[in-house]
Amino acid sequence: MDSIKFVTDRDPDEREFHQAVTEVIESVKPVLDQNPLYRNESIMERIVEPERVIMFRVPWVDDQKKVHVNRAFRIEMNSAIGPYKGGLRFHPSVNLSILKFLAFEQVFKNALTSLPMGGGKGGSDFDPKGKSDMEVMRFCQSFMAELYRHIGPNTDVPAGDIGVGAREIGYLFGMYKKLANEFTGVLTGKSLNWGGSLIRPEATGYGSVYFAAEMLASRNETLEGKRCLVSGSGNVAQFTMEKLLDLGATPISFSDSSGYIYDEAGIDREKLDHVMYLKNIQRGRVSEYVETYPEAVYVPQNQELDHNPLWKDHKAECAFPSATQNEINARDAQNLIDNGVYVVSEGANMPTVHQGIEIFLDNKVLYGPGKAANAGGVSVSGLEMSQNSMRLNWPKEEVDNRLKTIMKNIHRMCMETAEQYGSPGNYVVGANIAGFVKVVDAMIDQGVV
Ligand code: GLU
Repeated sequence: MDSIKFVTDRDPDEREFHQAVTEVIESVKPVLDQNPLYRNESIMERIVEPERVIMFRVPWVDDQKKVHVNRAFRIEMNSAIGPYKGGLRFHPSVNLSILKFLAFEQVFKNALTSLPMGGGKGGSDFDPKGKSDMEVMRFCQSFMAELYRHIGPNTDVPAGDIGVGAREIGYLFGMYKKLANEFTGVLTGKSLNWGGSLIRPEATGYGSVYFAAEMLASRNETLEGKRCLVSGSGNVAQFTMEKLLDLGATPISFSDSSGYIYDEAGIDREKLDHVMYLKNIQRGRVSEYVETYPEAVYVPQNQELDHNPLWKDHKAECAFPSATQNEINARDAQNLIDNGVYVVSEGANMPTVHQGIEIFLDNKVLYGPGKAANAGGVSVSGLEMSQNSMRLNWPKEEVDNRLKTIMKNIHRMCMETAEQYGSPGNYVVGANIAGFVKVVDAMIDQGVV
């Protein structure tokens, strides 16, 4: 059975989901060819179908007393190796295709962490941008009024993603606790004084930089002195920049959906503090950065262009796409290479289109795909779950050391697996096969369920 056709016939409109499935199917072909059991067990047909999809209405009242209705989902994709685990995304672009691609990737990413977590993802087309705290609270409460009956610390453990940060997790947790009448680790990304883990906010960004450092180490190089393009300005981008500074590299850009900032002189610690203030406290736009640092440039997004000038106009050695899916098209990938970039570590989920990935691989770029490079976030979520179960908190150094070790292991696993299957240096093949084998072997052990 052609598994891609199986998916496209069944859900013809789910473009992003097809993209994520195609990439995995292409990578794991040699594994399927070597193990007839997987095809006999119809493992591909089973793994592309979510175990459960919940879709629900979220009615809420704005500050002007107008009633709004959003659509929300939770995709419980795969529980072969642990409870469903993955973030919630609140963004106007959210639909079934996007959440299924994210949930599908999450299955393999979580398997790579070596922690016992299945894969899931959820969210809503609600846009927190421009909403008051009280509007966000009412939305989160209404959202959780339905979601609470489907989740639990041993069933499904959501977390943050785009548009869902500490504020939203707080409101969601408060409502869960009230409805379920229990205080448990049902969400991760919680605040520190009520069950959160140190280093969770930093984890995805730190992890993506650790992964880049490992890729460079495989060629006896370090991040020291490297100029780094970063996209996005949420917590992934912010802590990517922080760790780059720690390791002696120079971040030179960041962005939001309206445009990007390029700061030729580099974004130092003081400037980064200002970015964090602008984004996390003011909830402002990146364009405001040039009011404080007029020597930097703000480039508004131009929808007419067939490429993003962020990836074309600035010389750099490394790129850390940390905004959203498909932010690097084939032309962008070529532009990056032409501009000297030879390290790409994906803090976002699926930021590079399929053809772009091929261009990176053909040009021997050290390319860390999201499901490996950004696995640090969910890894520390897994560590938050462990701490919650034990009812204790590990110190910062302990969590950070565990994160570093996990990222090193993921890197090694990807490298060794790629080599074993005849694609040395190809982290895409390495990550997809290593994650896949772990999950499907567990599925086979557990029978047809
Ligand atoms: N949303 C993040 C991701 O894409 C984190 C998920 C989690 O912590 O469960 O992996």
